[in-house]
Amino acid sequence: KGQVMGGENVDDEADEEEQEKSMAKSAHEKLLADRKTLPVYPYRESLLQAIEDHQVLVIVGETGSGKTTQIPQYLHEAGYTKRGMIGCTQPRRVAAMSVAARVSQEMGIKLGHEVGYSIRFEDCTSDKTVLKYMTDGMLLREFLGEPDLASYSVVMVDEAHERTLSTDILFGLVKDIARFRPDLKLLISSATLDAEKFSDYFDSAPIFKIPGRRFPVEINYTKAPEADYLDAAIVTALQIHVTQPPGDGDILVFLTGQEEIETAEEILKHRTRGLGSKIAELIICPIYANLPTELQAKIFEPTPEGARKVVLATNIAETSLTIDGIKYVIDPGFVKMKSYNPRTGMESLLITPISKASANQRAGRSGRTGPGKCFRLYTAYNYFNDLDDNTVPEIQRTNLANVVLSLKSLGIHDLLNFDFMDPPPAEALLKALELLFALSALNKHGELTKVGRKMAEFPLDPMLSKMIVASDKYKCSDEIISIAAMLSIGSSIFYRPKDKQVHADNARLNFHMGNVGDHIALLKVYSSWKETNFSTQWCYENYIQVRSMKRARDIRDQLEGLLERVEIELVSNPGDLEAIKKSITSGYFPHSARMQKNGSYRTVKHPQTVYIHPSSGLAQVLPRWVVYHELVLTTKEYMRQVSELKPEWLVEIAPHYYQLKDVEDLASKKMPRGEGRASKD
Ligand code: ADP
Ligand code: MG
Repeated sequence: KGQVMGGENVDDEADEEEQEKSMAKSAHEKLLADRKTLPVYPYRESLLQAIEDHQVLVIVGETGSGKTTQIPQYLHEAGYTKRGMIGCTQPRRVAAMSVAARVSQEMGIKLGHEVGYSIRFEDCTSDKTVLKYMTDGMLLREFLGEPDLASYSVVMVDEAHERTLSTDILFGLVKDIARFRPDLKLLISSATLDAEKFSDYFDSAPIFKIPGRRFPVEINYTKAPEADYLDAAIVTALQIHVTQPPGDGDILVFLTGQEEIETAEEILKHRTRGLGSKIAELIICPIYANLPTELQAKIFEPTPEGARKVVLATNIAETSLTIDGIKYVIDPGFVKMKSYNPRTGMESLLITPISKASANQRAGRSGRTGPGKCFRLYTAYNYFNDLDDNTVPEIQRTNLANVVLSLKSLGIHDLLNFDFMDPPPAEALLKALELLFALSALNKHGELTKVGRKMAEFPLDPMLSKMIVASDKYKCSDEIISIAAMLSIGSSIFYRPKDKQVHADNARLNFHMGNVGDHIALLKVYSSWKETNFSTQWCYENYIQVRSMKRARDIRDQLEGLLERVEIELVSNPGDLEAIKKSITSGYFPHSARMQKNGSYRTVKHPQTVYIHPSSGLAQVLPRWVVYHELVLTTKEYMRQVSELKPEWLVEIAPHYYQLKDVEDLASKKMPRGEGRASKD
């Protein structure tokens, strides 16, 4: 009997397997069929012909027309990959990953084989890879190793309208190599009709337009400005959900960042729970840069019948990702953007109003598959009178130290005459040169030094790479790369569940014991986790995000590899906090601040009032002198990740930058020199 049963089982299994295979096959057939419904499909042949005929082609088509996923496949099918890889750049890492995943599905192959992606600290490619999606920043780094991009037959600079700093620099570099590599095809693709500018820049390259399908979008404005746009967005989403039939379309809400999205998610969950079974199911899908990969796919899953999806997205959904089935767009009108003051050299993240061009892109997301509606949470007066027409390209509002260092290591010295599409302010270029000089990356002739050459190997901001290079001198490279990795994860490390806030806060305070400062606290978190052999349980017990820690470990591994490349020995010196803090100061001395009487701080070099962020372990301690990682502007200008500093270090470490008079103050004269903490006088 047993045998018969066994036999039956085997048969069943075989059947099931067959069934699964045929299901997979039909799903794949559907994907192939879907490819043919995209707006770009009818233009496949003429597009390939145009690419054959011209070395540089500007391609314009609405978001969702199939530029990113289809054009590289067409080129592959047409045989271009026999001569080299096809590289397609994306301004955002999530887009690079998600699009590569989609294309590998369409081609029926495993991600990382023929189709792969490469983003900072994560390389999902192999020697089989022929279609490579990558961030624009990664292609920029590839120039350092391969200045003529010899392994590529086609470079597609995608989402060109985003005008990120890296994309703008790439323009200049690819334009240059196209001159001596006639076999290289260059595609510049963009979602907006403002393509003349790209064409002009690339010596009047022809423009290929992919006609889109667009349905009318009804625009609604608020009558009065909203005091709290997050709350207004949530209320609007719920109103749509409750008053409109569920089958009728999904909702897309544009928010400014991870924290805001998580707050919105929590409130929405709470309020829909309150409404119970009176309403249809609302599926909440967040999407932002640091969302773990396995959750990213959720936004693309078809909405089940009888339910509605609400996607809470950052700007990434404006043009980089297309989500099918959106009928309602809620646009609070803000975006988180870097801003830079070239006069002071200070950079800060802040939430700013979007441009009209952005507002129109956002609205357009609702009219892809049928007529849509856009709810702008600002007044029509605001729109017409207050919003700028276009977003200022990043190159004109950012710190250029990083690209200047990259360009210098590419041997490009005459930056003032580099072929920029829109040149950065000369002041910003000078500030970047000044900073690199202060960090000893450039000598006084503006040439790359040995230190600068080492710094350029790290895919990090110059101050962070300087901190690492300096750790060689202070014999604590092991600790410093852990700190650098922890500073680079980009998402929060600690979490604080509503019902366990006290426990979470206590766990966090543990790492701050002795008021060691935030950098050392980060190091302690990493080392303790390492001591538990990277235990997940330990993370739970200490209210630490496991995912963030795993990312830190990956980054750290890569930094360790790079240390070897620049011939810095991995040396551990965990007990010498002064050495560690001196390494930090070697990179971050331009970010020093001194406490004032009222508990605020004054930055030393370009005096400005700043505060210690409430999340800092030193927020209550208020040391007299601090060094900080970054500034974040919310209600005030806050310093985030702060450590205490001895003022004499500034003169010792950066004598060309600080003089004694900068670091002397009356109060410190009353205290014995070299004593760390300020007394309360
Ligand atoms: P474009 O680059 O012109 O904006 P894309 O090539 O990105 O257009 O998108 C074409 C289609 O592929 C869209 O309908 C989009 O919904 C779908 N798509 C793209 N990426 C994914 C993904 N990761 N999962 C599911 N569908 C996707
Ligand atoms: Mg695209």
